[in-house]
Amino acid sequence: MPLIYKFCETCGARYGTFRSQRKHCSNACRQRAYRESQATTVHDETTLTLQFGRVTVKLVDLDPASDKESLRRTIIEVLGPELIEQATALKP
Ligand SMILES: [Zn+2]
Repeated sequence: MPLIYKFCETCGARYGTFRSQRKHCSNACRQRAYRESQATTVHDETTLTLQFGRVTVKLVDLDPASDKESLRRTIIEVLGPELIEQATALKP
């Protein structure tokens, strides 16, 4: 079975794996990707809302040209995995 080199979808790290279905370098990254996927994201031209369980983060008055996906990642980065995990555990 050949060793395949891939880039982690969560942190971007390069890693080697024998499993072609694998998308993340570690369990931590896999869990983080799962938690992030639990966030409900709503956006239009000037607002971006992320909801983790009962916790809502809302950005308003954004530049319409701003990259919403990059802002979303920044919010997730700033909150950090522990807080997101706790917030997601609180059901809406
Ligand atoms: Zn990773």
